[in-house]
Amino acid sequence: MSSGPDKTAIVIGGSIAGLIAALLLQRDGWIVDVFERVESELAGRGAGIVTHPDLFSVLRSAGIAIPADIGVSVESRRVFGLDGKCLAERPHPQILTSWDRLYQELRQCIPDSRYHKGRTLERIEQGEEAVVARFVDGSSANGDLLIGADGLRSATRGQYFPAAQPAYVGYIAWRGLVDEAVLPVAVIEDLFGHFAFALPDGEQMLGYPVAGPDNENRPGHRRYNWVWYRPADRSTLRELLRDETGVIHDVSIPPPLIRPEVVLAMRRAAEQVLAPQFATLVRLTPQPFFQPIYDLETPRMAIGRVALIGDAAFVARPHVGAGVTKAAQDAFAMSAALAQDGGDIPGALLTFERKRLGEGNRIVARARHLGAYMQAQIETPEERANAARFRTPEAIMCDTASLEFLSAHEDGRNAAVTLSPLN
Ligand SMILES: Cc1cc2nc3c(=O)[nH]c(=O)nc-3n(C[C@H](O)[C@H](O)[C@H](O)COP(=O)(O)OP(=O)(O)OC[C@H]3O[C@@H](n4cnc5c(N)ncnc54)[C@H](O)[C@@H]3O)c2cc1C
Repeated sequence: MSSGPDKTAIVIGGSIAGLIAALLLQRDGWIVDVFERVESELAGRGAGIVTHPDLFSVLRSAGIAIPADIGVSVESRRVFGLDGKCLAERPHPQILTSWDRLYQELRQCIPDSRYHKGRTLERIEQGEEAVVARFVDGSSANGDLLIGADGLRSATRGQYFPAAQPAYVGYIAWRGLVDEAVLPVAVIEDLFGHFAFALPDGEQMLGYPVAGPDNENRPGHRRYNWVWYRPADRSTLRELLRDETGVIHDVSIPPPLIRPEVVLAMRRAAEQVLAPQFATLVRLTPQPFFQPIYDLETPRMAIGRVALIGDAAFVARPHVGAGVTKAAQDAFAMSAALAQDGGDIPGALLTFERKRLGEGNRIVARARHLGAYMQAQIETPEERANAARFRTPEAIMCDTASLEFLSAHEDGRNAAVTLSPLN
């Protein structure tokens, strides 16, 4: 039953998915080495992270003691109109944390001697008994199992499924963080304590409180994290990605290189189309930045002794707020399958794939529906129907960053299983 203390695992990518997988396998007695392309400690990937109860269940199971101050709690969701009035509110308790905080909690549980920085995977070779990772610097690592947790542009996925590429969805997310200390009291009263939205035509602004610098959760020391989705067709995106020297950046542009006139245009638009609370946030954000939004789906998650997890396998638009929870659930399902049948690694990975492939597809599809109304082009009748369905204040408050649709699917599937003998 046990996978045995002599089994070795190679994890490619030392971010959230890779670290959770490493911790779960370490717990089960595997010798695990993590290989991360970046040479320094990782920091500041994205600002806020919406959590779901399943994330904490997996972390507990990986042996992480979750500190009480892991995030900031909110009790409800609110939608604000252009005049600043609260149009709708509904209870929805949730904990909001940050990428840095989660990363630090996980990273400290992996010994430095097992976390190898500055190692970029180039290619993988698989044999009957082992798998070998070859790195760009000429070094290599041997193991019984390799986990591709190397994100959106995964080299692992690229080797096996070169056609599975991120697809730009036709809108971007402007993002920013504002210190509570610089905000007017009225804005703090309206926004802090809530997950809040504004719905300009064909766009969506949302925000929620997160810890301040040094993970401070005390009132007065927190920050507000905002995300503003705005349509941008391909040629507009190209212009946004052009820096002052004329270089057009490929996937995203480092925040300091965004041209000042691009930021200025965004700030001007904020004054015109956003509720005043949100316009204030944008005005007081020192360095807003943007990320193009992509959909990505892998056709398989198990390739012999190689598994794909997290963003390397599926990237959903952020509306479901599921990236980190999905990565944790992938890692959990994989470690559970290996614990059941560690003697047959390819067989165990197929069991893992059966559990997670459909779920990845469902999350991506759900996020696509939620975001349809923000696409620069709405092309199909299905997109039009979803655009109409998911743009009301009530739908936005119910469906954003909620994974309830997955349990509805499970209930439906269980019902179908129960009914099938009658058919
Ligand atoms: C606007 C926006 C908002 C979001 N909001 C949320 C949210 O509210 N909640 C949420 O849960 N998620 C959110 N996400 C998604 C979340 O950030 C990711 O889903 C999550 O971090 C996935 O982690 P990962 O470890 O799979 O991939 P990544 O974090 O991308 O990590 C991959 C790692 O692999 C390394 N790597 C890459 N190539 C190689 C190589 N060849 N060799 C070695 N190492 C390599 C990279 O350097 C990186 O460290 C959001 C994303 C966006 C864009």
